[in-house]
Amino acid sequence: MPETETKPEQQTNCLSCNKPLRRKKTYYRNGKYYCAKKCYKAFLDKQNADKEQNEAQ
Ligand SMILES: [Zn+2]
Repeated sequence: MPETETKPEQQTNCLSCNKPLRRKKTYYRNGKYYCAKKCYKAFLDKQNADKEQNEAQ
């Protein structure tokens, strides 16, 4: 990934399901956008699962 010194680009896709975000239907949390609260939870679960996996090794 190239490093950038400029502001991060506006997120256009959900971090969880990668669907394009609609302006009025976004769930904003911790500086990131998701298409729904469900996706935010799914993303957190995935992160936690990855973390647990790494710690288990
Ligand atoms: Zn989503």
